[in-house]
Amino acid sequence: MAYAMHGGIQYEYIDAMRAARGADVTDMAPSASLVLTLPENKRVLVRVGDRVLRGQVVAEADGILLHTPEAGFVSETSDAVRIECDGTDETAATVVKTNKRLQDCTREEIIEKLRICGVADSDGSSMADRLESADGASVLIAECIDDIAAASSPASIVNGMKILMFALGVRQGVIVCGDDIIDAAKKLSDICAKSKLIKVATVRAKYPQADKKRLAYAVTGRRAANEFVVSAQTCAAVYDAFVTGMPQTRRIVSVTKGKISKNIRAAIGTSFAELLKFAGIEVGGGGDIVEGGLLCGHSVSPGDSVGKTTRSLAVLASDNVYVRRGADVCIRCGRCVSACPEKLLPNYIVSYIRDGKEHAALSRGALDCDGCGVCSYVCPGGVPIADIITGFAKNHAREAGSEAQNERDKS
Ligand code: SF4
Ligand code: SF4
Repeated sequence: MAYAMHGGIQYEYIDAMRAARGADVTDMAPSASLVLTLPENKRVLVRVGDRVLRGQVVAEADGILLHTPEAGFVSETSDAVRIECDGTDETAATVVKTNKRLQDCTREEIIEKLRICGVADSDGSSMADRLESADGASVLIAECIDDIAAASSPASIVNGMKILMFALGVRQGVIVCGDDIIDAAKKLSDICAKSKLIKVATVRAKYPQADKKRLAYAVTGRRAANEFVVSAQTCAAVYDAFVTGMPQTRRIVSVTKGKISKNIRAAIGTSFAELLKFAGIEVGGGGDIVEGGLLCGHSVSPGDSVGKTTRSLAVLASDNVYVRRGADVCIRCGRCVSACPEKLLPNYIVSYIRDGKEHAALSRGALDCDGCGVCSYVCPGGVPIADIITGFAKNHAREAGSEAQNERDKS
C-alpha cells in the first residue's frame, strides 16, 4: 500500500487540482508577443528596438538568467522585457550542445551549463546555486505528485536525474509519484528498470504531500535528513539544457476550470489570457484566477504571463468553496484538527491569537504552521485559519527581529 501522510486533503476532493491529472500535454505555438516579467531586483541586458534570437539572454534576475523563447524585436524593457516575435527560428550562437559524455564532464562544467541555461527549480531557486552549495546530499528526490504534467517526458526526467546525481555525487535517486497517476508511474518504472540507482515510489495523492520536507519524510522516514529535492519538470529542464544547450524557455502548465482541463507546454512570457483561450477556458462570471495551487496559490490577472515557476492555473467559479467564504465563525467541528499535516490544533491557536494570548498560541505550536492552507479549505465556518496563523507568525518574527536589533544597539 502506498505511503500516506498524516492529514492533508486527497486530490480527488479538490476539483481544480484533480481535473488536469493524467491529461496529455499539448504544445502551444508561441504568441505574437511574449512578456518576460521581471522582479524588482533585475538587470536588463537588451534595449528597445534590439533584435534578439531564440535562446538569447535578455535579463538577469535574482542570479538567474532569463532568455527569450523566440526570435524577434524588443519593444519594452521597464517592468518586463516584451518581445514582438518575428516568426523566424534563428537561434542564438550561445545555444550549443554538450559534445561530451556525462562521465567525462566535471561537476563544475555541469553547474556552469545549468547557470548559462538559466535553469530554475519550481520554487524559483537557481539550480546552479543549489548544486554549488549542496553539501553531502545522500539522496536525490524528484517530485512527480503536483508536477503531474511532467509525466509526459519520462525519459527526460530520468536522464535529468542522472545528470543531477552525477553533479551531486549521490548514488540513490527516487521519483515520487502520486497513486492516482499509475500509468505515468509505470512509464517511469519501465525506464528505471535497468538502473540500480533510481527507483519510483508511489504515495497517496494528497495535498500537501509534494512539499519538500514531507517528500523527504515519505522517502526516508526521517524528518531532517539530507535530501536534495527537485520537481520532475526541473529534471527534464536539466536534461534539455545539458544535452541541447537550450535554455529554460518553456513550461508545462496545468490549466483547469471545472471539468475542463489541459496540460499545455507554453513559451515563458505567454499571457494567461492567451493560455486560457488556447485551453478553451473562458474567464469571467465573478470567479478568480489562481496560480500555483488552489490552497496556497495566489490570485493573478489575465494580463500576467507564464514564468519559470508557473505550473498551474485554475479559473474558479464564483460558487467554488475556495471563493465562497463563510461567516468566519468556528462551529467546533474539529475538521481543521484532523486535516492539519503538522498535527496542530488550528482552531485553538486561532482562538488564542484572537484573544491576544500570544504565549498560549506559541506554546500550541503556531510557529510550526507552514501555511499549507488545508485547515482553511476544510473549515465549514469560513474561518481564514491559515491567514490568521501565518500573519501571527510573521508579526512575531518581525517583533523578535526588532527586539534583537535593539539589544545589539544597546550593547
Ligand atoms: S496552514 Fe498551518 S495550521 Fe493550517 S493545516 Fe496547514 S500547517 Fe496546519
Ligand atoms: S474547521 Fe473551522 S469550524 Fe471546524 S473547528 Fe476548525 S476552525 Fe472551527
